[in-house]
Amino acid sequence: MSDRFVEQMSDPQVVKDTRLLGDFGVIYCRGNHEGRERIALVSDGAELGVYGRKLPVVCEECAELLRYAEKRRAFCPKEPKPFCSYCDTHCYTAEMREYMREVMRYAGPRSWRHGHAIDGVKHVIDGKRFKREMERRAAEQAGAEQAAGTTEPG
Ligand SMILES: [Zn+2]
Repeated sequence: MSDRFVEQMSDPQVVKDTRLLGDFGVIYCRGNHEGRERIALVSDGAELGVYGRKLPVVCEECAELLRYAEKRRAFCPKEPKPFCSYCDTHCYTAEMREYMREVMRYAGPRSWRHGHAIDGVKHVIDGKRFKREMERRAAEQAGAEQAAGTTEPG
Protein backbone atom coordinates (compact mmCIF):
# COMPACT_ATOMS: atom_id res chain seq x y z
CA MET A 1 0.00 0.00 0.00
CA SER A 2 1.53 3.33 -0.99
CA ASP A 3 1.64 6.40 1.26
CA ARG A 4 -0.35 8.30 -1.29
CA PHE A 5 -3.11 5.70 -1.22
CA VAL A 6 -3.27 5.85 2.58
CA GLU A 7 -3.29 9.63 2.50
CA GLN A 8 -6.03 9.81 -0.14
CA MET A 9 -8.13 7.26 1.71
CA SER A 10 -8.21 9.56 4.73
CA ASP A 11 -9.96 12.27 2.70
CA PRO A 12 -13.62 12.35 3.84
CA GLN A 13 -14.88 12.81 0.27
CA VAL A 14 -12.88 9.83 -0.98
CA VAL A 15 -14.16 7.77 1.94
CA LYS A 16 -17.74 8.80 1.16
CA ASP A 17 -17.40 7.96 -2.55
CA THR A 18 -15.73 4.66 -1.81
CA ARG A 19 -18.43 3.66 0.68
CA LEU A 20 -21.17 4.55 -1.77
CA LEU A 21 -19.50 2.39 -4.40
CA GLY A 22 -19.20 -0.42 -1.88
CA ASP A 23 -22.93 -0.24 -1.22
CA PHE A 24 -23.68 -0.09 -4.94
CA GLY A 25 -21.49 -3.16 -5.44
CA VAL A 26 -23.47 -5.05 -2.80
CA ILE A 27 -26.83 -4.11 -4.37
CA TYR A 28 -25.61 -5.09 -7.83
CA CYS A 29 -24.03 -8.35 -6.73
CA ARG A 30 -27.12 -9.45 -4.79
CA GLY A 31 -29.34 -8.71 -7.76
CA ASN A 32 -27.16 -10.13 -10.52
CA HIS A 33 -24.84 -12.76 -9.16
CA GLU A 34 -27.25 -15.07 -7.48
CA GLY A 35 -25.74 -18.34 -6.34
CA ARG A 36 -22.20 -17.09 -6.21
CA GLU A 37 -20.17 -17.33 -3.06
CA ARG A 38 -19.98 -13.93 -1.38
CA ILE A 39 -17.53 -12.86 1.27
CA ALA A 40 -16.65 -9.64 3.09
CA LEU A 41 -14.42 -7.53 0.89
CA VAL A 42 -10.69 -7.97 1.33
CA SER A 43 -8.93 -4.87 0.03
CA ASP A 44 -6.52 -2.12 0.98
CA GLY A 45 -9.43 0.23 1.54
CA ALA A 46 -11.19 -2.29 3.76
CA GLU A 47 -7.99 -2.73 5.72
CA LEU A 48 -7.81 1.02 6.25
CA GLY A 49 -11.38 1.03 7.51
CA VAL A 50 -12.93 3.22 4.81
CA TYR A 51 -16.07 1.04 4.72
CA GLY A 52 -16.60 1.33 8.44
CA ARG A 53 -17.50 -1.75 10.43
CA LYS A 54 -19.84 -3.19 7.85
CA LEU A 55 -17.75 -4.41 4.94
CA PRO A 56 -19.37 -4.91 1.53
CA VAL A 57 -20.17 -8.60 1.04
CA VAL A 58 -19.71 -9.44 -2.64
CA CYS A 59 -18.56 -12.15 -5.02
CA GLU A 60 -14.97 -12.31 -6.20
CA GLU A 61 -15.69 -10.57 -9.51
CA CYS A 62 -17.41 -7.65 -7.78
CA ALA A 63 -14.64 -7.55 -5.16
CA GLU A 64 -12.21 -7.14 -8.03
CA LEU A 65 -14.17 -4.16 -9.31
CA LEU A 66 -14.31 -2.55 -5.86
CA ARG A 67 -10.56 -3.00 -5.34
CA TYR A 68 -9.95 -1.47 -8.74
CA ALA A 69 -12.33 1.42 -8.05
CA GLU A 70 -10.64 2.18 -4.72
CA LYS A 71 -7.34 2.65 -6.46
CA ARG A 72 -8.71 4.70 -9.32
CA ARG A 73 -10.60 6.92 -6.89
CA ALA A 74 -7.58 7.37 -4.61
CA PHE A 75 -5.30 8.23 -7.50
CA CYS A 76 -7.73 10.51 -9.36
CA PRO A 77 -5.52 13.38 -10.55
CA LYS A 78 -8.40 15.84 -10.82
CA GLU A 79 -9.10 18.31 -8.06
CA PRO A 80 -11.99 18.65 -7.54
CA LYS A 81 -12.91 15.28 -8.99
CA PRO A 82 -15.51 15.58 -11.76
CA PHE A 83 -18.26 12.99 -12.14
CA CYS A 84 -16.50 10.04 -13.68
CA SER A 85 -19.05 9.67 -16.46
CA TYR A 86 -18.30 13.23 -17.63
CA CYS A 87 -14.54 13.14 -17.16
CA ASP A 88 -12.29 13.41 -20.20
CA THR A 89 -9.55 11.36 -18.57
CA HIS A 90 -10.51 7.74 -18.98
CA CYS A 91 -8.57 6.18 -16.17
CA TYR A 92 -10.69 3.01 -16.17
CA THR A 93 -10.00 0.27 -18.69
CA ALA A 94 -12.83 -0.16 -21.19
CA GLU A 95 -13.86 -3.39 -19.51
CA MET A 96 -13.94 -1.98 -15.97
CA ARG A 97 -15.67 1.16 -17.19
CA GLU A 98 -18.48 -0.91 -18.69
CA TYR A 99 -18.76 -3.03 -15.53
CA MET A 100 -18.95 0.07 -13.35
CA ARG A 101 -21.52 1.64 -15.63
CA GLU A 102 -23.67 -1.46 -15.28
CA VAL A 103 -23.33 -1.40 -11.49
CA MET A 104 -24.30 2.30 -11.34
CA ARG A 105 -27.21 1.81 -13.68
CA TYR A 106 -28.55 -1.10 -11.66
CA ALA A 107 -27.79 0.05 -8.13
CA GLY A 108 -28.38 3.80 -8.46
CA PRO A 109 -32.19 3.72 -8.73
CA ARG A 110 -32.39 0.93 -6.12
CA SER A 111 -30.16 2.60 -3.58
CA TRP A 112 -33.00 4.47 -1.86
CA ARG A 113 -33.96 1.24 -0.14
CA HIS A 114 -30.50 1.10 1.31
CA GLY A 115 -30.50 4.55 2.84
CA HIS A 116 -28.84 6.30 -0.06
CA ALA A 117 -31.88 8.20 -1.28
CA ILE A 118 -30.18 11.55 -0.97
CA ASP A 119 -26.75 10.49 -2.18
CA GLY A 120 -28.00 8.49 -5.12
CA VAL A 121 -30.35 11.17 -6.39
CA LYS A 122 -27.86 13.92 -5.69
CA HIS A 123 -25.23 12.10 -7.70
CA VAL A 124 -27.52 12.06 -10.73
CA ILE A 125 -28.57 15.69 -10.34
CA ASP A 126 -25.04 16.92 -9.71
CA GLY A 127 -23.86 14.94 -12.70
CA LYS A 128 -26.38 16.65 -14.97
CA ARG A 129 -25.49 20.04 -13.55
CA PHE A 130 -21.82 19.33 -14.10
CA LYS A 131 -22.45 18.30 -17.70
CA ARG A 132 -24.44 21.48 -18.37
CA GLU A 133 -21.67 23.59 -16.86
CA MET A 134 -19.08 21.88 -19.07
CA GLU A 135 -21.24 22.49 -22.14
CA ARG A 136 -21.67 26.13 -21.18
CA ARG A 137 -17.91 26.54 -20.79
CA ALA A 138 -17.24 24.82 -24.10
CA ALA A 139 -19.74 27.13 -25.83
CA GLU A 140 -18.18 30.16 -24.16
CA GLN A 141 -14.75 29.04 -25.23
CA ALA A 142 -15.90 28.55 -28.82
CA GLY A 143 -17.51 31.99 -28.79
CA ALA A 144 -14.33 33.65 -27.51
CA GLU A 145 -12.24 31.97 -30.17
CA GLN A 146 -14.61 33.05 -32.87
CA ALA A 147 -14.52 36.64 -31.61
CA ALA A 148 -10.72 36.54 -31.72
CA GLY A 149 -10.94 35.46 -35.34
CA THR A 150 -9.26 32.13 -34.86
CA THR A 151 -10.19 28.63 -33.86
CA GLU A 152 -6.59 27.49 -33.54
CA PRO A 153 -5.59 26.97 -29.94
CA GLY A 154 -2.37 28.69 -28.84
ZN1 LIG B 1 -20.94 -10.11 -7.83
